[in-house]
Amino acid sequence: MIVMKFGGTSVQDAEAIRRLVEIVRSRIDKNPVVVSSATSGTTDALLYACDSAASRDFEKADSIIDAIHKKHIQLSRELLSDTTLLKELTERIERLISELKDLIKGIYLLSEIPDRIKAKVVSYGELLSTPIISCSLIENGIKSTLVDSREFIITNSNYLKGEPDYSEINKRTPQILLPVIKNNSVPVAQGFIANTVKGEPSVLGRGGSDYTASLIGMAMNAEEVEIWTDVDGMMTADPRKVTGTKIIEEISFKEAAELAFFGAKVLHPSTIIPAVENNIPVRILNSKSPSKTGTLIKEEIEKFGAAIKSITSKEKIKVLNIYSPTMLFAHGFLKRIFDVFDKYKTSVDLITTSEVNVSLTLDNDEMLGEIVNELSKFSEVKLDDDKSLVCMVGENLKFTKGIAKKIFSVMEQHNIYMISQGASVINFSFVIDRVHLKEILQSLHDEFFGK
Ligand code: ASP
Ligand code: MG
Repeated sequence: MIVMKFGGTSVQDAEAIRRLVEIVRSRIDKNPVVVSSATSGTTDALLYACDSAASRDFEKADSIIDAIHKKHIQLSRELLSDTTLLKELTERIERLISELKDLIKGIYLLSEIPDRIKAKVVSYGELLSTPIISCSLIENGIKSTLVDSREFIITNSNYLKGEPDYSEINKRTPQILLPVIKNNSVPVAQGFIANTVKGEPSVLGRGGSDYTASLIGMAMNAEEVEIWTDVDGMMTADPRKVTGTKIIEEISFKEAAELAFFGAKVLHPSTIIPAVENNIPVRILNSKSPSKTGTLIKEEIEKFGAAIKSITSKEKIKVLNIYSPTMLFAHGFLKRIFDVFDKYKTSVDLITTSEVNVSLTLDNDEMLGEIVNELSKFSEVKLDDDKSLVCMVGENLKFTKGIAKKIFSVMEQHNIYMISQGASVINFSFVIDRVHLKEILQSLHDEFFGK
């Protein structure tokens, strides 16, 4: 079997849901389990309604729920022509909306909102989207059963960012899904939402539907987990900065994690760990362009494949040069520096050292003033804030000779301020002048991926 997860934009309107139906049909021989997010914007709207109610703006909160109500009723009418099916679905939606309205009234009366209740309110996004999807499959001749993820996705009581209880999930998921699949019916499950072991409402954190999909993949030992989204996959560079970018066909989990750290927001890598750890490949696909093969994320990739998978950058970084002649040969210098960063909970990306000088880069400058002040007590500090960080990611870097030479030949015309080949040898990063970022990214991309 396979798991097919559809994100908010892949279920955003009737057209998107009709596409979903055909995508599921194209995989029917693989016994798919469908996992869906709320329709796009609904989770945000629910959170907004919670906050409005808690801050005693009942009218605002109520009007948000009315808009959600209208949207889902309209969607159902557009998708279903079978009157019995439409009647059943409409009744379910009315029931859910009336529960939601009661909850919002309660929050308004209390003027506060405990996390457990917030988790309950946001769960309605997925509770509303999934029956529409299941009914749309049925309307189009695909046997389908709506299942309730809260019966098998079990978390601890961290209500808004629940940590999954693997053993409960492994036990319960097949008990619920297998009979449905054996009956040749497509289970449709809510992403994101869960229950604690005590049966209280919880959710897996924002964007958590990917997590649900990979947990189901793990528990069912799926052949593959498909993440249907609105992009073609992960790219060899950011298409907004570089022309001629290509889709990365295969990427290792570590490489994907490295790219996400640099802001490639296709998915949050930690959410696919349950699948990856169980050797279940995860594929990112575009629901608007389903014939494309997307990007496959695997635990390991072939050795001796492409050395560089993607070129990414952080445009605005701060470089701190810390100089202390008195510290010459003194040990404990680095510790003193790191104690300052530790105190202000600021993490350092890149670091190079010599006997008397330490340079490091930061992408978070919230506490920069305090940090510079404190460092200045025992060293001279110089701040550069016109630099960018370029990072070339690839696990095969470690098996490939001559990469540095190739990079340096592209960089011949430019200054390189700091270089680091990560300890994990999964990336090669360096600092450059920000004014040349675009040009450098393009030249490197042309060199490594062709024009
Ligand atoms: N609907 C939830 C959210 O917007 C979960 C998800 O979309 O994956 O965060
Ligand atoms: Mg979403």
